[in-house]
Amino acid sequence: MTNILLVDDRPENLLALEAILEPLEQKLLYAHSGEEALRQLLRHDVAVILLDVQMPLLDGFETAELIKQRERTRHIPIIFVTAISKEEEHVFRGYSAGAVDYVFKPFNPDVLRSKVAVFIELYSKTEQLQEQAELLKEQELADLRRESEERYRFLAEAQPDQIWTATPNGELDYVNQRVLDYFDTSFSEHVAAGWLDVIHPDDLPHTLKGWQQALETGASYENELRLRRAVDDSYRWHLTRAIAMRDRDGEIVKWFGSNTDIDDRKSAEEGQRFLVEAGATLGSSLDYRATLAALAKMAVPRIADWVRVDIVEDGKLHTLAVEHVDERKIELAFELGRRYPEDPEATQGPPVVLRTGKSELMTEISEERLSQLAVDDLHLELVRELGFQSYMGVPLVARKRTLGVISFVSAESGRHYGPNDLALAEELARRASTAIENAQLYREVEERAQAARVLETVADGVFLVDVQGVVRLWNRAAEAITKLPRADVVGRRLTDEVLPGCRDLSISIPVAGTPGPATATTFPLELDGEERWLSISGVAFDEGTVYAFRDLTEERALEQIRQDLVSTVSHELRTPLAAIYGSALTLARDDLELEEAMHEKLLEVIVEESTRLADIVNDLLLASQLDADRLAIHVEPCDAQALAASVLDAARTHLPAGTRVSFDPGQDDVPYVVADEGQLRQVLTNLVDNAVKYSPDGGDVRVRLQTAGKYVRFTVADEGLGIPPAEQGRIFEKFYRLDPDMTGGIGGTGLGLYICRELVRRVHGRIWVEANDARGSDFHVEIPAAPEPSTGQNRRKRARASA
Ligand code: ADP
Repeated sequence: MTNILLVDDRPENLLALEAILEPLEQKLLYAHSGEEALRQLLRHDVAVILLDVQMPLLDGFETAELIKQRERTRHIPIIFVTAISKEEEHVFRGYSAGAVDYVFKPFNPDVLRSKVAVFIELYSKTEQLQEQAELLKEQELADLRRESEERYRFLAEAQPDQIWTATPNGELDYVNQRVLDYFDTSFSEHVAAGWLDVIHPDDLPHTLKGWQQALETGASYENELRLRRAVDDSYRWHLTRAIAMRDRDGEIVKWFGSNTDIDDRKSAEEGQRFLVEAGATLGSSLDYRATLAALAKMAVPRIADWVRVDIVEDGKLHTLAVEHVDERKIELAFELGRRYPEDPEATQGPPVVLRTGKSELMTEISEERLSQLAVDDLHLELVRELGFQSYMGVPLVARKRTLGVISFVSAESGRHYGPNDLALAEELARRASTAIENAQLYREVEERAQAARVLETVADGVFLVDVQGVVRLWNRAAEAITKLPRADVVGRRLTDEVLPGCRDLSISIPVAGTPGPATATTFPLELDGEERWLSISGVAFDEGTVYAFRDLTEERALEQIRQDLVSTVSHELRTPLAAIYGSALTLARDDLELEEAMHEKLLEVIVEESTRLADIVNDLLLASQLDADRLAIHVEPCDAQALAASVLDAARTHLPAGTRVSFDPGQDDVPYVVADEGQLRQVLTNLVDNAVKYSPDGGDVRVRLQTAGKYVRFTVADEGLGIPPAEQGRIFEKFYRLDPDMTGGIGGTGLGLYICRELVRRVHGRIWVEANDARGSDFHVEIPAAPEPSTGQNRRKRARASA
């Protein structure tokens, strides 16, 4: 039923209209004014309006205009009902106000009814049409929805990832073919079984927790977990993501999820991380055994469930380290190795890797393979117990030599090694090999450096000449002995230009084939304008010859001295001996009647010369004691003045004619000296004796005493032969004499001044000589003064002496 609105200010007119329209069996609405008509229109949908033109307040035209202004009512057909306005102008106004028809009173009820009926018909047709259009739209939408669902499923199927969707409460309602393939299942089976069976047990707790949280909050879900692949039962890492799709009201209508296989990426990352850590371990020690053992420990369980490192010793593989996830199985693994040592001719496993230097990969260790591997039933049982699943063997190669094999075996983890794992294992072995190589190199370098350091510190000159004859090494001692800096020699051939006099070196130097006691040759070389005697020998080796030499110049000089000693001493000994022998012979003669005086004289000679002999022997003994540093000294404060005075008193007893001695004791406060009194006396006696001895023409010998800073200085001055300045240092050397051939006729051993120097040196004093104005020599000896108290004592003593 549709509504017809009748508008007239007169109730009788409304009644009349009602009567006419009744048979149409539609619902009639009434309005007695324009305003009421508008109100009715607010409340009801109306198919047609019959509108009286003449009304008070709001007339029909005005009412129609208002109706047309409103969006909701604009389209309602209006039929004007009027008694008067038949004029054209009026009718025009009605049409322009939106009328569809004009009905003039008095009107034909049939015509009016049929007109209204047409509009009713039109209205209901429109209504129907609208309904149909709505229906159509809904169907289209459904089609569209289906189509889009098909499209996303299509998209989902085209994805390389596993795609799934779930209802708002998390029940799976779609999975793509990838899911079914991966788990080798059907949709219904998969839904029935759920994810629980295929998720790695270790990943289950956090996965369930995360998914539950997402379902509760509607937040997007992301998780990394391992899913078991049906084809090989291996767990592979996946990244799972799901987001919720919501309707306009924000209600979740569906979950869209995907599982992306990140196993390769993850193991690559893990591999990289492992390699970095392994690198740190490998670099931490130079002991490669410790390093490899540490490496094996690191690799379990990250790369393998058990790892074994074998290294080559005496051409055979020896197990260096075994690591197992299950510690109890380490012993079993060792036991296995002990009982069933690797057959070097084996066709699989570490021996093959060792033989070929190439890695070996067994993704799957089948039962058949296991029984091939096993030597006997027990072996098979042990191997089975270890539960081998997959195996990789990689060689440790350093400097092109296979040093060993690292074996990785998966068991408990159910892991199956693939090319990526092998690449990681190979990289690891490569780094381990590098570390071993580095350690070896380091050791070699260390050894070489040590050898070089030794070469630098040995006293012998060492140089190396390569097969081309070029000097490759010239050590510090070689530099020092030859005075030739390394830079002038290394890299050049040893020619006369480089080292004068070495031309015939290569032919004349004995070169041994192996290191050992070599016979050396000694020859002179002109070095820095001096002749030096070198003793040299060589040892040949693959890369050339190493020569070692030492400077024998000093030894030769010593040898010369020794020879001098023999001649000097024998001469010095022979002279008194001859005198004693002569005197004794004369005394023993029966045929000679000797006068008393002569008799006395001869006996005197014997006594004197015997004393001289004894002195010489004493000096020799003393010198040898000094040389060996075996002379005991007793240092104490001694009275320098008293000592010097007594030495002079002794000298006066046997002065030759024409020689005088005198003593100047210096100031009163000359301090005591710190010395060995007996030895100091010997020094002074020696100097005074020399002064007398080397003044053959007589003269004054003066002994002077004075304080010199922290020292007390003794000076013995003579007017004798004097000593040329160039010889003033040398006369203190052992056996050195100015006149060794004794042409001057003054005997001596050349030991006296040497003994003096050594004795003075031992009490931290000094001795030297200089020429004096009397063309003779001043010998000075300085001895450290004793601290104060001795000086006081000194004064008291002196005071007593003068009293
Ligand atoms: P010796 O007197 O037994 O030869 P010394 O060691 O005492 O040995 O002296 C070494 C040399 O020093 C002497 O041979 C002598 O040539 C020289 N000499 C030592 N004292 C004097 C001196 N007072 N005057 C000149 N020459 C001296």
